[in-house]
Amino acid sequence: MNSLLLTGGRVVDPASHIDSVADVLILGGKISAVGKNLSAPAGVETFDAKGKIVSPGLIDLHVHLREPGQTAKENIATGTAAAARGGFTSVVCMPNTSPAIDNAGTVALIHERAKAEGVVNVFVTGAITRGIAGEELAPIGGLKKAGVVAITDDGHCMQNNELMRRACEYAKMFGLPVMDHCQDYSLVTDGVMHEGYWSTVLGLRGWPSAGEEVIVARNILLAELTGARVHCQHLSAAGSVALLREAKKRGVPISGEACPHHFTLTDAAVAGSGKFWNADGKGLAKFQGGELPEWPKYDTNFKMNPPLRSARDREAILEGLADGTIEILCSDHAPHCDYEKEVEFDYAPFGITGLETELALSLMQLVHAKRLSLADLIAKFTVNPARLLNLNKGALSAGADADVTVFDPDCEWIFRREDSASKSSNSPFFGWKLKGRAVATIVGGKIVWSEKNELVAA
Ligand SMILES: [Zn+2]
Repeated sequence: MNSLLLTGGRVVDPASHIDSVADVLILGGKISAVGKNLSAPAGVETFDAKGKIVSPGLIDLHVHLREPGQTAKENIATGTAAAARGGFTSVVCMPNTSPAIDNAGTVALIHERAKAEGVVNVFVTGAITRGIAGEELAPIGGLKKAGVVAITDDGHCMQNNELMRRACEYAKMFGLPVMDHCQDYSLVTDGVMHEGYWSTVLGLRGWPSAGEEVIVARNILLAELTGARVHCQHLSAAGSVALLREAKKRGVPISGEACPHHFTLTDAAVAGSGKFWNADGKGLAKFQGGELPEWPKYDTNFKMNPPLRSARDREAILEGLADGTIEILCSDHAPHCDYEKEVEFDYAPFGITGLETELALSLMQLVHAKRLSLADLIAKFTVNPARLLNLNKGALSAGADADVTVFDPDCEWIFRREDSASKSSNSPFFGWKLKGRAVATIVGGKIVWSEKNELVAA
């Protein structure tokens, strides 16, 4: 069981410096060998991966599974099913659930639920502060003991710099990275979209880039002061990339991640599809062909936190990804119910789903756009997040867990609401033509999702 021979694919494993056509033999849930002309032992099935990319299983380190407490939006079963469809073999879930993941008991509950219901591996983050209230540190040692891979108050941002410093010191003691949603509340107040031309035109309150950059700068200084590993989540602003680039040159233990919506869309999209396709979306419109996806202005599926920013910011994020300043790609998959999103822009919750579109959008904006090699893109989804979180994942070396993603980088397809495995449908990308798609997702040697099986099932 859990054995498989993948034949003839282009194996791209940045961690092992492999990029060549080869077979991958999986025995008993582990990688047994990667090489030419491997043969399957008796009884082991063969999977023809010819013409496809075979990579270490993709890892998304920023996912909201909404369990416990918000299971009308998503749960571990549906969230991990969406991950599998997107080509992800591991997800890292955020602690802003209800109750928050701020104690060992809740961590144990999620581990248990993930074992019973999860389609892919689930790693858990713990809160920095009790109840993610930003006032009192959570029991960081106890969370580590319970198995969290990082701490974060995601969805919120610690405003008290002294408390953040103590969190960094504790996290360092326990060998945990601190991940931060960078948002200065006094600057952002009740902003709902990027502060700029479009917020003025649309009469919406602005969330200025400086609201993120101030906290990125704070985190750099605290990483330097404490020596803790600090990771800035979902970067959206040009200034954040510049700060990170400079700090990394000095050797500060700081890192960052970016999400496809921030390097694909801009704030013009909040003004409706016409405004977007005619200006910032021109390049993307060409690929969409004749029929461009349409949406109205004030569409709340374009409301996220941090917000979609200007074309200049989008370009800076792409540059940061291309030159290695930003080492990690992720979705910030944030499901919300229709009834929550179907309200005025001001009142809608922030966030969009992303697990099923992030591979394609990343390939389109980075690899097909010739900004990044395929190997470098795969590294941002595999070895880089694994290294940050000390996960024993992200490589196809002999003896490693057989988590493998097989994908077709050139497959063109349309993302349809009815094909999504998520419980929620708050994606701005429905109806979009995308390029690049998972063909099979293999976790511990077992195919948990494949295009083929799905067709058979249908
Ligand atoms: Zn966040």
